[in-house]
Formats: sequence, structure tokens, C-alpha cells
Amino acid sequence: MPNMETLQELLVHELQDLYNAENQIMKALPKMARRATSTPLREAFEAHLAQTEMQAQRLERALTLLDAPVRGRHCDGMQGIIDEGKKLMEEDANEDVMDAGLIAAAQKVEHYEIASYGSVKAWAELLGHEEVTALLQETLSEEESADRKLSQLADSEVNSEAAMGAGEDDSDEDTGESNDVDEDSEERATPARRQRSQAARSRRSGTQG
Ligand code: FE
Ligand code: FE
Ligand code: ZN
Repeated sequence: MPNMETLQELLVHELQDLYNAENQIMKALPKMARRATSTPLREAFEAHLAQTEMQAQRLERALTLLDAPVRGRHCDGMQGIIDEGKKLMEEDANEDVMDAGLIAAAQKVEHYEIASYGSVKAWAELLGHEEVTALLQETLSEEESADRKLSQLADSEVNSEAAMGAGEDDSDEDTGESNDVDEDSEERATPARRQRSQAARSRRSGTQG
């Protein structure tokens, strides 16, 4: 007889996988918060850490309600996603670029969780476990709002700062460009700044090497 004969057994298996995943995330989030430079991003990681602790407790409650052992089952998927994030954090990166990368890494975590919680919630609902369904829906909503918050931070500031090049004072720098400016000069300013910051980065990396 297969050890996963029923949907209920698959549900328990996946809840134990998620329990392990949430515990891996609890260890990773403080490191991501420390690596973040943007204050709102750091605060978002810290807020999600507090939520993650509650999510692990909800899984303990769900497993108990299902008369299943409250234990984890190593989540290879989350380990892979977190390992990628660790490698990123070891890079000697521009701080705004690192923030953009941290958001991408965190959204990979959220998307794995959204996929998993969506499935277990649907199974619990189908099997008539109302309280378990409600617990899983609560966590699913938190993961979705964490994902949206990260998108907002990326769109509102982090990505554009990363694209600009950090630490630059572009207020009144003498560019050596002609004073004979035309009406499009404002629109042209951004690519010009980008070129200068690229040049600055090559100079910096030249001296570091
Ligand atoms: Fe979570
Ligand atoms: Fe997993
Ligand atoms: Zn999450």
C-alpha cells in the first residue's frame, strides 16, 4: 500500500514541509534585514519575521487538529531559494543594487509559500477541515500581502535607486557638457547620469581589484 494513499496524507506531508520551510525562513529573515540598506525594506523584513513566527504556530495547530505529528519534513525547495539568497548576500554589491536583489530573493520565498498554502488550503477545504482551512487562509493572505508590499517597495523607490547608481551627488556636478542646452535636456539627463555612474563604478572597482 502506498504511504500516500489519501489526500489527507498528502495534506499532512505538505503541512510538515511548510513547517520546516517557515523555520528556515525564520533564520533567514534577520540576515536579510541586516543586509538591507533601505529602512522601509528592513522594516518589511522585520514585520514579516513576526508574522512568520505566527504562521509556524498556525501549522502546529493545524497538524494537531489533524491528529498528525507536529514535526517538520525538510523542504528542499525553500533550502534552494534561501541558498540563492545567501549567495547574493555574499556579493560585494552597491547597496541599492543589493536591496533590489534582496526584494527579488524575498519574493521567490513568498511565491513558493503562496503556491504551497494555496494547495493545502484547497485540500483542507475539500476534506471538510474548516478550522484548518481558516488557519491556512489566514497565512495565505499574509504571504500575499507580504509579496505585494515587496512589489510596492521595489516600484516606489528601490529599483529606481538601484538603476541610478548609489552614493552619487548629481545635483550640481559639472558634466563638461555643452551649455548650449535645448528643451529636451531634462529628458536626456537620466541616461547621461547613468553613464557617469557607470564610469564611477568602473573607477571604484578598478581601485578595489
Ligand atoms: Fe510564511
Ligand atoms: Fe517544500
Ligand atoms: Zn512569507
